[in-house]
Amino acid sequence: MTEEKKSLNFLEQIIEEDLIKGLDRSKLRFRFPPEPNGYLHIGHAASICLNFGLGQTYNAPVNLRFDDTNPTKEEQEYVDAIKQDIQWLGFKWAEELYSSDYFQQLYDWAILLIKKDKAYVDDQTSVQIAEQKGTPTKDGVNSPYRNRSVEENLALFEKMKNGDFEEGSHVLRAKISMTATNMLMRDPIIYRVLKKSHHRTGNDWNIYPMYDWTHGESDYIEQVSHSICTLEFKHHRELYNWFLKQVYDGDSLKPKQREFARRNLSYTVMSKRKLLQLVKDGLVNGWDDPRMPTISGLRRRGYTPKSIRDFSETAGIAKRDNITDIALLEFHIKNELNQTAPRVMAVLNPVKLVITNYPEGKKEILIAENNPEDENAGVREIPFSREIYIEREDFREQANKKFFRLKLDKEVRLKNAYIIKANSVVKDENGDITEIQCTYDEDSKSGSGTESSKRKVKGTIHWVSIPHAVPAEVRLYDRLFTDEAPDSHKDKYFKEFINPDSLKIINNAFVEPSLKNAKIGDRFQFQRLGYFNVDDDSTAKHLVFNRTVPLRDSWAKMDQKK
Ligand code: ATP
Ligand code: MG
Repeated sequence: MTEEKKSLNFLEQIIEEDLIKGLDRSKLRFRFPPEPNGYLHIGHAASICLNFGLGQTYNAPVNLRFDDTNPTKEEQEYVDAIKQDIQWLGFKWAEELYSSDYFQQLYDWAILLIKKDKAYVDDQTSVQIAEQKGTPTKDGVNSPYRNRSVEENLALFEKMKNGDFEEGSHVLRAKISMTATNMLMRDPIIYRVLKKSHHRTGNDWNIYPMYDWTHGESDYIEQVSHSICTLEFKHHRELYNWFLKQVYDGDSLKPKQREFARRNLSYTVMSKRKLLQLVKDGLVNGWDDPRMPTISGLRRRGYTPKSIRDFSETAGIAKRDNITDIALLEFHIKNELNQTAPRVMAVLNPVKLVITNYPEGKKEILIAENNPEDENAGVREIPFSREIYIEREDFREQANKKFFRLKLDKEVRLKNAYIIKANSVVKDENGDITEIQCTYDEDSKSGSGTESSKRKVKGTIHWVSIPHAVPAEVRLYDRLFTDEAPDSHKDKYFKEFINPDSLKIINNAFVEPSLKNAKIGDRFQFQRLGYFNVDDDSTAKHLVFNRTVPLRDSWAKMDQKK
């Protein structure tokens, strides 16, 4: 057996080079650093699969670190949801850590910066500070407070900490340079006054450290070898290294920040801030709405952890920004469910069909394979009777030769059952068909081995026996946005592209009786229709199914019509 060697992604190449240069393999350590200000989305899954994947490849620990330095937006609910999602995806972190656990250490290091004359308290407003910042082509201006003495800075910083100053009145800034080409190096703010209760440290602190100051130092405390983040932090790398240099003890490991392109997915948005707006505006029914690109939304929709991991793997790690086609995600779930999902019959838009030559009151039990792709999946029993439901779309009184379903005077096979022929219809006063009358070929039962059972007819349609049918609600989803990149338009806000038809609820669907005891989360292929799972709203009395993904991509068809 030849094992195909996977080519290394560029981050693995960087690690390999570091190992060659002498980095001790046992020093490798990674982290996934979410801010608990929302639920994780499929973009985060890319970062999770990447970091935990590196952990697996190099047999190295991967920490879960909550980057919780902004108490105004962070909540315990998000912490819990993030942990649940990572576990569900199938990953185990080495340690659960919080940046807020380092508040004291970060404070002590800030004092160290002040003592080294590398930080100062600025009394100006944020507007004044911004005005002095300059532009990439214009030098900034020094703050009038830049040359305060160390003693004065220590005293003021202490007052900031003690809550003696109002929010927005004072900040602590790093003293780097107001003429640096990298704007982020122009005396960045490292602490601000914020009199907010923190979900973990309560009211202990009146000041909170800024992201740049916190992130690298947290990596250093945890001795993360490779701190992998997304491209927008590329310019922050210089600052990350500057901060590290200030606190470096001379012989610990110095973390290395490297960047990769964010995962964007077509027809959706991928920022917690924007997803929160959808939730707050009621445009979706919560973070786990099956239309959301969140991990919890995809889970509820019927996606499996494996399909998301496989998607992340195939979509790969890029150096440049790009948009991944959502069809790739759909491909992976279809591929998996094709192997694993039991086949069943469900009728979403029912019309009654009567087999006039089938004895009244007779019931037959037919045997059907659960999954032709899986020989261990076994068989199930399906009741058959004189009256069945079929899909309204599967019948036409007249149709051309390309219509392979049921039409008057023509035959089709009922899946797992008999060949029938349509003879007449009954209509209501509006001219709508209320009943299709057929006859069946008694010898044509599927699998019976008779000549008739081997007869080839053009079409096969699915059905559900009326006396045995179980009513169900079925929710059909479409793209949440009508535009491929809804947040890429300068003149339009992303919410203007919301698809008004992204959810269609069918209240009068019928499913075969084997589904009667289906449990929340169970996944099925509704034959000829798609893959469906039992929604969280489902109860024993009222079954609710989500369409995870149709068998065929209806959007592709729409595109062809254009
Ligand atoms: P958002 O804008 O959605 O809130 P974020 O980057 O602010 O994203 P964090 O909680 O800070 O969210 O992200 C945790 C980790 O996940 C970070 O390392 C971040 O770079 C990574 N990440 C976030 N979004 C994506 C994405 N779309 N693709 C890949 N990685 C991402
Ligand atoms: Mg963030």
